[in-house]
Amino acid sequence: MRKKNGEIVWIVAILALFAGAGIFIYLSPYFEREVPVSDLKTPIYWNFKTPLKIALKDNIAVGKYKIEVEEKGKTTILVDGEAAKGQKELNLTLTYPKNAFLPTSSDAKIIVEVSDRSLWNFFGPNKLKSEVKVICDITPPTTSVVASSYGIAKGGSATVVFEARDENLEKAYIKTGNGRVFKAQPFIKKGFYVALVAWELKEDNFSASVAAVDRAGNESLAPIGFFQKSSVYKDTKLMLKDDFLNQKIMELSSSMKADAKTTPLDRFLFVNNTLRSENEKLISTVTTRVGDNAVDSFFTEPFLPIKKASVVGSFGDHRSYYLGNDVVSESYHKGVDFASVKEDVIMAPNNGVVIFAAPNGIYGNMSVLYHGLGLFTLYGHCSSFLAKEGDLVSKGQPIAKTGMSGLAFGDHLHYGVLVQGVEVRPLEWFDANWIKLNVTKVIDEAKNIIAGRK
Ligand SMILES: [Zn+2]
Repeated sequence: MRKKNGEIVWIVAILALFAGAGIFIYLSPYFEREVPVSDLKTPIYWNFKTPLKIALKDNIAVGKYKIEVEEKGKTTILVDGEAAKGQKELNLTLTYPKNAFLPTSSDAKIIVEVSDRSLWNFFGPNKLKSEVKVICDITPPTTSVVASSYGIAKGGSATVVFEARDENLEKAYIKTGNGRVFKAQPFIKKGFYVALVAWELKEDNFSASVAAVDRAGNESLAPIGFFQKSSVYKDTKLMLKDDFLNQKIMELSSSMKADAKTTPLDRFLFVNNTLRSENEKLISTVTTRVGDNAVDSFFTEPFLPIKKASVVGSFGDHRSYYLGNDVVSESYHKGVDFASVKEDVIMAPNNGVVIFAAPNGIYGNMSVLYHGLGLFTLYGHCSSFLAKEGDLVSKGQPIAKTGMSGLAFGDHLHYGVLVQGVEVRPLEWFDANWIKLNVTKVIDEAKNIIAGRK
């Protein structure tokens, strides 16, 4: 009996040892079971010129890896290496060897083989082997301008209709010489696009090209020939008066960190610089979208928001602020100021949708309408709103009342027109003849050209 008990103790001890070793192996990072991953998703479009980016990851450590292109038994090795010890993530940038074959068929694939450093598989690593289809595309898109406005003014707008085609087109847009991108909306027929573009007030020169990029990264550009119209903007002096500093500026600078040493001038600078740039940032954020519906026409009626009013401030004015004899700050006025009677009714100048109706710092109660094709109108200093965010409004419908909320000296409407986030000359959009020549005529001309091509 005693002997038997002794044997059982031994057996239990040995079993426990095995179980312990098992648990140790099971839980040990040396024996983990997770297979490494690659971020390649099928299919890959590649022009075999721009570098190909691949990320390899493992939960513990990446080991050896090999990536190659294969087509009908022919292979080109892109990389064959081993990660440094303990490296969990590898971001590879691979270039295709210059004289290697270019795959032409739909059988071509990229083969990714990655091991980790685990000893789980009978003292061998966990391995990933994945095959991803690769499509060789070395042909850039074709791009051309179909019709465009004859000219563009500094601070002004223009229309472009263009064609962009590619088997694997990713995006087509307008790019300016200063690097700004204007998105395009589909035009009447597949392969054609329309966009409004703008020459930013602060830029001295303007140039623009139609740009198209395919999924393989091939890009093509077609310059748009615009006649450049210069425009002269005014310089105005504004004196900072005590009651203005003590009331309006006091009120608008409430979010400023102030102490006993904070002067009225500090407060004014906070409002005119810090707050202004925050408010303008918000405006450019809400006004950058364009639709994705196909466009075949645009408004012919001028964008006039108020009935009888006189212009008391014009677009593009460079304003210098004086405290006594010193210039203490400056700004550009990016809209037109209209004054009429107190709390006058502001009407939607054309059909649109209210995309913003809320306070915005120096702009006071601000309403913004979207009219399609990347065009927005903005209403500042309102005393009240008559249409709320999300409302569809038709031409002539009351949307707000004028007031003096925000940085305003008296009851007036600050009216802005924006093309994809860029403040433009409202004067152009007040002029039915300008709209006809620069927008609707361009659209009609493009339609005729496209119809004529069949
Ligand atoms: Zn204004």
